[in-house]
Amino acid sequence: MNDAAKRDYNELIEKLNRQGEAYDIKLITKAYELCVEAHSGQKRWTGEEYYIHPFNVAKIIISLGMDSQSIAASLLHDVVEDTKTPIEYIKREFGEDVALLVDGVTKIGRLSFVSKEQQQAESLRKMLIAMGQDIRVIIIKLADRLHNMRTIDAVPEQKQRDTSLETLEVYAPIAHRLGIRPVKEELEDLAIKHLDPVAYAEIEELLQHRSHDREQILDDIETRIEERLKETMPNVKMAFQGRVKSIHGIYRKMYLQGKDFDEIYDVYAIRIITDTVADCYNILGIMHDMFRPIPNRFKDYISTPKPNMYQSLHTTVISREGIPFEIQIRTFEMHHTAEFGIAAHWKYKEGITEDDKKMQDRLAWIRQILDNQESSGDVSEIVRSIKVDLSQEDVFAVTPKGDVINLPVGSTVVDFAFAIHSAVGVRMVGAKVDGKIVPISHEVKTGEVIEILTTNQAGHGPSRDWMSIAVTNQAKAKIRSWFKKEKRPENIAAGKLEIEREFSKNGINFSDEEYNEILSDTASRLRFADIEELYAALGYGGISINKILPRIKDEYAKRTKASKPMEITEIKPIASKSSEGVIVEGIDNCLIKISKCCAPLPGDEIIGFITRGHGVSIHKRDCNNVPTDISKAAEPERWIKAYWNTSQRDSFVSTLQIYSVDRDGVLIDVMTTMQNMRVAVHSVNARPVKSGNCIITITISAESVEHLRSITQKLEKIKGVFNVERINQ
Ligand code: MN
Repeated sequence: MNDAAKRDYNELIEKLNRQGEAYDIKLITKAYELCVEAHSGQKRWTGEEYYIHPFNVAKIIISLGMDSQSIAASLLHDVVEDTKTPIEYIKREFGEDVALLVDGVTKIGRLSFVSKEQQQAESLRKMLIAMGQDIRVIIIKLADRLHNMRTIDAVPEQKQRDTSLETLEVYAPIAHRLGIRPVKEELEDLAIKHLDPVAYAEIEELLQHRSHDREQILDDIETRIEERLKETMPNVKMAFQGRVKSIHGIYRKMYLQGKDFDEIYDVYAIRIITDTVADCYNILGIMHDMFRPIPNRFKDYISTPKPNMYQSLHTTVISREGIPFEIQIRTFEMHHTAEFGIAAHWKYKEGITEDDKKMQDRLAWIRQILDNQESSGDVSEIVRSIKVDLSQEDVFAVTPKGDVINLPVGSTVVDFAFAIHSAVGVRMVGAKVDGKIVPISHEVKTGEVIEILTTNQAGHGPSRDWMSIAVTNQAKAKIRSWFKKEKRPENIAAGKLEIEREFSKNGINFSDEEYNEILSDTASRLRFADIEELYAALGYGGISINKILPRIKDEYAKRTKASKPMEITEIKPIASKSSEGVIVEGIDNCLIKISKCCAPLPGDEIIGFITRGHGVSIHKRDCNNVPTDISKAAEPERWIKAYWNTSQRDSFVSTLQIYSVDRDGVLIDVMTTMQNMRVAVHSVNARPVKSGNCIITITISAESVEHLRSITQKLEKIKGVFNVERINQ
């Protein structure tokens, strides 16, 4: 160590001694030595030795009253990033806590952003806070930024502006939320100085010259107040401070709220600090007796603290000379909180253990307050927010460009990709987290830098299983909408299949005309252009089958009832063979008719109904026209048991060749059609042929030539099918 470094070390130790607390001097000394050694040979923009920077950051940390570990970590905060010292070494030499603090500050430092908009700045602030799992990380980061801002004149101009903007939008608000007023105000003033140097100079000028007389008057007023209070409350301990509003505070009122310098009532303020809350209110009474208060300017932050824990009484009064000024009254304890904020609540304690439950609670509480800053002032609001389950917190990750993406806990890389942009999501082929390839189901964690790998290859798109990997509704909706647009033929086939499957499950059996009529109605009722659109919507999941099914069921029930339920329509005279197809218990050689309402087919459970003069009609057991409980039917004796005589059932085997466009789902459509018609399929074979077509060969059982013809007709209606031929018999 050279002489300068030794001198600075002695200064550090003196500062520690002045704090009057017990420090781990050994740890701090060791950190100081490593800091000087590791950074040796490195220079700052200012031309100074690099260690001057961590040394000054440590001094700020000591002023804030932080503990030995924070001081050590602030000395080491740039060592991992800027020198060859690995974090493992810090862990071994300085312990886990110091290593975690250094690691936290390093990680935040890697995310360098120039914020683009209000919302982005807000996410950033939240992210930084979320990343500082140990709030000390944030405090060290603030001290780091403060020292960099103090010495920013040395860096290139563009960097000055970028850093100043980031300071104003991201870091100063964090200092504000943590209640560290002096850090907040200094960061703001330094940022404004570099972002708007002209305005800054103007305000400085106003404060220095134009208000010179006023300050003189205010000095007199302060003296008068002191005399009066000491006279009225002789035994009460009191301290007095004259205060001038920060330049940034005046800047905001003048340039953002358009006020004249003279209209700003709280440019000057007198602060009275005392022992007890009761004294605060007593002093307030005396002040309102001495000076005329301006209406609506009294604020009681003692009974209603600000969310950042700030407590004080504020009132604005007018002096005899007509100068308005603010009086702030608070206890010493409140003053300490106002100056040090969260750092003040860092109850001085060496080696905070993990099971320090109180500390954990306090940190959770602080984080809640920070997240709910918008609900300013209202204590009940804060209390309510504390109760919010912590698991509802968000995670914050960034793109390689530095855009912060805010997602709910549990979100995956798929959500991240779609949150950037749909175009990124649909072209995703993989992802890298902090430079390493991860599976797309990787759960996003706060602070990760995530790069989405994409392809421009035509025809590439999301896969359907992403729907179950995505967590956010936003991503799911975007995936769904992609399938809607890009996979129309498949969606139509899938939707059609779903309808047919549901119809057969529910025993709905419309004629072709009815089917078209009902579905056209349904489609137009739901504002789809035609049935195909309805199929497509069902296919990509834009509409649920449950939304359309109940109405169709009702319609079906209505129609089947309307077609005179118990009456048998004479479709065809039952030929001798067919009449033997059904055995009716206890009756021989009767006329048997298959009812039209449910059209039972061989294999269905059936029941017979003795009609008046038209023989026995056969229904499916679960037909709507058959009572569930026969014994409770109007004429139970007319219902009789019936069976299919399977052994004698006549049918013939037939092979069909179906020529179709080779599209996805055509085979499924063929099989669904067969299933819906209750046709037994013995074998099926599909092969593609030239020119994008395919031939499906299917061997089935048909009951008659008529039956076979109706099967052929149905098959020909399947989308893409252009010819059906019978190739045997
Ligand atoms: Mn630094």
